[in-house]
Amino acid sequence: SIAAQWATLPDHTAQVESLREAFVERYGSEPDGIWSAPGRLNLLGEYVDFNGGSCFPTPLPYRTLIAGRLRRDGILHAESLQMPTPVERPLREIAPGTVSGWFGYVGGVAWSMNQEGGEDISLPPDFGADLLIDSTVPVGGGLSSSAALECSTALALLELSCPLRTEESLEPLPVGGCGPDNDDLRARLARVCMRAENEVAGAVTGGLDQTTSLRSLPGQAMVIDFRDFSFEPVDVNVTGAGLAFLVIDSRAPHDLADGQYSSRRNACEDLRQATGAENLRALLPDDLGFPDLDAEEARRARESTVADTLERCARVPGVLEGLGEDKLYGWTKHVFTDMMLVERARTLFTDRTPTTPETWRELGQLFTTSHASMRDDLGASRNELDVAVDTCLDHDALGARLVGGGFGGAVLALTTRERVPETAQAVADAFADRGYEKPVFLPLAPGRPANRDL
Ligand code: ADP
Ligand code: MG
Repeated sequence: SIAAQWATLPDHTAQVESLREAFVERYGSEPDGIWSAPGRLNLLGEYVDFNGGSCFPTPLPYRTLIAGRLRRDGILHAESLQMPTPVERPLREIAPGTVSGWFGYVGGVAWSMNQEGGEDISLPPDFGADLLIDSTVPVGGGLSSSAALECSTALALLELSCPLRTEESLEPLPVGGCGPDNDDLRARLARVCMRAENEVAGAVTGGLDQTTSLRSLPGQAMVIDFRDFSFEPVDVNVTGAGLAFLVIDSRAPHDLADGQYSSRRNACEDLRQATGAENLRALLPDDLGFPDLDAEEARRARESTVADTLERCARVPGVLEGLGEDKLYGWTKHVFTDMMLVERARTLFTDRTPTTPETWRELGQLFTTSHASMRDDLGASRNELDVAVDTCLDHDALGARLVGGGFGGAVLALTTRERVPETAQAVADAFADRGYEKPVFLPLAPGRPANRDL
């Protein structure tokens, strides 16, 4: 058997320094600054953000860095160490439909900053920049390299624009600047980045990724309520419990993902319209965490709540004709299920603390239930992901699931710390036996939100 391949945990200080050097080499001067933003690991809650449910993410130690220098000629020039070709465009020409590929995420943020109103975040007319991007977030791995790119871009562009704002007597930056304590600004920037991804990059996104990358707290998971984008930090101390999260980048390509993701999202919107609900979350009862029930009772309560909700939806005139049974009982069923799993997890880590071995066992069960829902109801898994999940479970993981939008990307398992190496090896072997692309295992450490590094 071939040794399991582990990524190296990034040394952030060294990366900032090497990006600074690469910038000097390419552009012949020091950058005005370097900014970075993390990818995210979503512990639970997929296809839930755009339906007004809650999600349970944590920032990753893997980040996208951007070194930048102000230009005063309205030109945006960007290069990425992960991409072969530089892109350069007059900033005023960037709009939905005029840019494509990875530059859509960078240029899209510039466009979106000017759309979102607010003199304090729109860019001065002559503003331009030279940017150099480097990242350790796996691209297309379900760990949100896209939001890491957007959010670091937003901070970079906003702060790079400061000298021009002063010279041209424009509105200065919002009070409190871009620092991590300015959650108001970061909430606005998260919306800016969402809009860039939705309208310019052309990928649908509901805000989970950008909210985590910009608004999370260092070393903390969070539960975000997408009815109002409020969140609470949640301490998920796996290490203290002798456990570990094993993150597996399956390396399975997710080429088909965009159309698949959109069709599922559209089905949710169809159900929402047919029922007249503000969002799909509103079709479920208010309280879904069942703090007084044990794991098994809570599971039964969840299943009957989901079944009742689907039955009520099916009785709404036109729903079955419009949506079809498969989408109602598959795609939207998944959304209701994952919403409930997140709220149970929140209850475990907030109402029912301190954690006990039972807390972690149940969290693992929630993971595995979510995976079954993604696989069987939503139809968003694929063989590589199922093999990774099943192999982890065969090696006594407490639970495992695919993370992100599915059709490729990463798998997350909860297991004991001692079991991590043998579990990783077993997954590597299972992939090799089947001729799959070699998976990469990602060591974890506490992550922190977007910030300025230099
Ligand atoms: P995920 O967010 O799960 O990694 P997405 O498909 O949402 O996957 O986003 C991946 C896309 O984001 C890439 O195809 C590319 O266009 C862009 N991207 C991400 N990281 C970088 C990078 N370091 N340099 C340039 N583009 C990037
Ligand atoms: Mg993404």
